[in-house]
Amino acid sequence: MTIDTFTTDQPLPEPVEFTYDWYERFLRRLLDAGYTPANYDESLSTGEVILRHDVDFSPRKALTMGRIEADLGIEATYFVLMNSPLYNVFYKPVRTVLEELQSLGHTIGLHFSTHQYWNGEAPTTAVSERVSAERGALTAAVGDVSEAVSFHRPDEWLFRRSFDGFISTYEERFFTEIAYRGDSNQRWREQHPLSGEQPEKLQILTHPGLWGETDADFETRLLDETDYEIDRTRRFMREQFIEKRYNVDEFQYQSER
Ligand SMILES: [Zn+2]
Repeated sequence: MTIDTFTTDQPLPEPVEFTYDWYERFLRRLLDAGYTPANYDESLSTGEVILRHDVDFSPRKALTMGRIEADLGIEATYFVLMNSPLYNVFYKPVRTVLEELQSLGHTIGLHFSTHQYWNGEAPTTAVSERVSAERGALTAAVGDVSEAVSFHRPDEWLFRRSFDGFISTYEERFFTEIAYRGDSNQRWREQHPLSGEQPEKLQILTHPGLWGETDADFETRLLDETDYEIDRTRRFMREQFIEKRYNVDEFQYQSER
C-alpha cells in the first residue's frame, strides 16, 4: 500500500479547529489517503492507523466522537480513568456510555495515572501490579478491555518501557516504527497533525474533552466541562439525598451528535 497524500509539497489541510466537523473531515482525509484503522492487539502493518482517545474528563464527548467514527466505519480505542474526580465507570450514566461505545465497535482500555500512586519513578513491577488491579476493576465494570494501557500525563521514565501483563502505548515501538500525533493541550493549533512526512504507521491521540460543536480554547473547554459535571453532580446529590428520588436514568449523558 502506498500512502500518497499530505506530502510536504502539497498544501496543508485547513487550520485545526477543535470541532466535531473538523474531526470528521480529518478522519475522512485519513481514509481517503488509504489508511486503515487498527487496534493495539496485533503488530501494525504499513498503512494502518491506531485511533486512540484518552478520556480525561468528558464521557459525553467521548460518546459523540465514537458516533462520528462509527458513522465512517472506524473503530477506535477509548482509554478511561479509574480515579477521575469527574467520572466513575461504575456510575450508570458512564457505564452506559462505555457500553454504547463497545456496541459501536470501539474498545475500552485503561487510562492509568501513576500520579495517583507515586510522586516520581516507580519500579516496573509495582506499576504492573497497580495497572492489573485497575484493569480488573474496569473489566468488572465493562467486560472486555484492551490489552493496551495508556498513561495519563506520563513522565519521561515511562517512555520506551515495557511492562508485564499489558501493552503500553508509550513502549519502544511507538517511538520508533510507529509515528505519533497527539492533540494534548490543543497543540495541533501550532503544528497541524498532518504536516511533514507521511508516516507508514501511525498512532493518533485525541482527547474528547477538548472538542465540541464550536471551537474553544483548551482552558475554556476544561472549565466548561468541569462546570457541566459539577452541575450534574449537584443535581444528582439533591435528588438522591434531599428529594429521595433515585431515578439514575435521568442522568444519562446526551451525545452532542
Ligand atoms: Zn490523560
